[in-house]
Amino acid sequence: MEPGNIAGRAEALAKLRDDSEWLLVVGGGITGACVVRDAVLRGVKVCLVEKNDFAYGTSSRSSKLIHGGIRYLEQAQFGLVMEATRERAILSRIAGHLVRPLSFIYPIYRGARRSMFEISLGLTLYDILSLGRSYRFHRMPGKAAVAELEPRLKMQRLVGAGFYFDATTDDALLTVAMIQDAVRHGAVCLNQMSYHGADSANGRVVSARLRDEETGTDLSLKVNGIVHAAGPFTDEVMRNFDEDSGSQVRPTKGAHLVFSRDRFPLEHAVVLNSVVDGRVNFAIPWGPGTLFGTTDTDYNADKSSVQTTREDVRYLLGTVQTYFPELALTEDDICSTYAGLRPLVHQPGKSAYRTSREHEIFSRPDGVVTICGGKYTTCRSMAKEALDEVLDLTEKWRKEPTTRCRTSRVSLLDADGLAGPSEVFALQKRLVSEYELSPDQAEHFLRAYGNRAVAVVEAFKGTDGAMTPLVEGLPYVWGDVDAAVREGFARTTSDVLRRRTRVFFLAADQGKEISGDVSKRIGELLGRDSDWVGRDQGHYLDDVARSRAWMDEP
Ligand code: FAD
Repeated sequence: MEPGNIAGRAEALAKLRDDSEWLLVVGGGITGACVVRDAVLRGVKVCLVEKNDFAYGTSSRSSKLIHGGIRYLEQAQFGLVMEATRERAILSRIAGHLVRPLSFIYPIYRGARRSMFEISLGLTLYDILSLGRSYRFHRMPGKAAVAELEPRLKMQRLVGAGFYFDATTDDALLTVAMIQDAVRHGAVCLNQMSYHGADSANGRVVSARLRDEETGTDLSLKVNGIVHAAGPFTDEVMRNFDEDSGSQVRPTKGAHLVFSRDRFPLEHAVVLNSVVDGRVNFAIPWGPGTLFGTTDTDYNADKSSVQTTREDVRYLLGTVQTYFPELALTEDDICSTYAGLRPLVHQPGKSAYRTSREHEIFSRPDGVVTICGGKYTTCRSMAKEALDEVLDLTEKWRKEPTTRCRTSRVSLLDADGLAGPSEVFALQKRLVSEYELSPDQAEHFLRAYGNRAVAVVEAFKGTDGAMTPLVEGLPYVWGDVDAAVREGFARTTSDVLRRRTRVFFLAADQGKEISGDVSKRIGELLGRDSDWVGRDQGHYLDDVARSRAWMDEP
């Protein structure tokens, strides 16, 4: 496995110094990752820069659903539902190890806004708009059946439920997997590399200003086109380039609570209407944990340090407590929280919740295209549109027509042979029965290593300490740290514990105890000195402290 290897960074930096022109993609979230993969598969010479870690922004802070968007039916956004269900099917085919079916229960209570009949009608429409691509058709279990499916759900006044399938993913790993695949096909992708604007000549963009955040070195890159895919940072990135570009993005904050599965056990995802304002909230099984989210509020503070507040916690916890009364969950049961910003496009006069989730593309004749908005689920088709646009604006690519978009047909690295739920399930079963992994570990190895999972387990079993758990009770092992640095572009302890594994969210101490040893190991692998190790661990501990600051709020 090559992509993201340690030597790869030096090689990638050397390549950027050559004298030819690049298509530059700015932002290593899922949007940028899909653009760079699409471009390289079309034979374009392309490079992506991310100022922090890949998936550092919204793309590691989502609800982790690859979904048709059942709530968009209420807003009659049928086109969006059709596009999203098509993309759900494509992602499950090209990244079967990372995009997995998930069953959902939509409980209906007496006196609720929607009756059983209306929900059944909505789910029938959802199945129809999926055009045969549903994992399974929905059904409408009655109260007794719901009690069996999800016994801890509030039964008082329950009439029945809608039961349907969508998909779930590991958002950060899916972004990294897209980037690994782009690198495998020849793209240059660098994290810790920031973009500071571009220069034009004769009405064309000709060079971009970059900075290596690890060394402080500035770099000028020859370019023939640029795609800004900076999510909530779109306005800042556009202003770098053009001070008069105004404001395109309306960031809205979404916070999630994370519980351990022991305290909040769940077999299926559950769709609930918030007891505060009726918005749709989701309780989602997440490996050894359970997620509950999300809020949707306008956000005007510092975008690089978005955190959950006590108000967010109260808003979410109230709904959990109402619908899962017998669990008696309190603030003390919250393992961790996270918050992210939706990069929504401005729609004056609309509330945060009502603002469209569709994306927008802004293009300039000099070859600079900006894409923002949209959803994780539709990242591939959004990327295709942005790429078509920038190639069309670029004389070089107009003269040399590139091949057609291939991203719906080419599987991601490690995904060959895993195109359907049954293949994935068979591999998962094998990891449990033949290799004696726990179901959580099997799930983790499958998501992290795809069709290489067996080979990786065998290699780890043959390496001293590699199968030792990072934290007792969680599925991650010390071998994952080396793999994240060697193959997965990880450069810091936060990269490893927040985005390549989920120790930050699921460990009772959020990984504080092991953070020193993890920093040390990363330092050894990257050839860092002890000062770096101390600073790196310090950054991680600060990160944990910031995420818990809500506890000190009144
Ligand atoms: P980001 O992931 O934010 O990426 C932008 C990147 O650009 C960042 O990593 C940033 O560091 C980088 N960057 C910024 N400036 C620079 C610069 N100057 N130089 C270099 N790099 C730079 N969608 C779904 O389909 N399903 C869901 O379940 C879902 N849940 C969500 C829940 C929440 C709470 C939120 C907030 C969103 C959710 N979404 C969901 C939407 C989805 O997560 C986002 O649409 C998507 O992640 C946006 O990705 P992006 O790449 O555009 O932005």
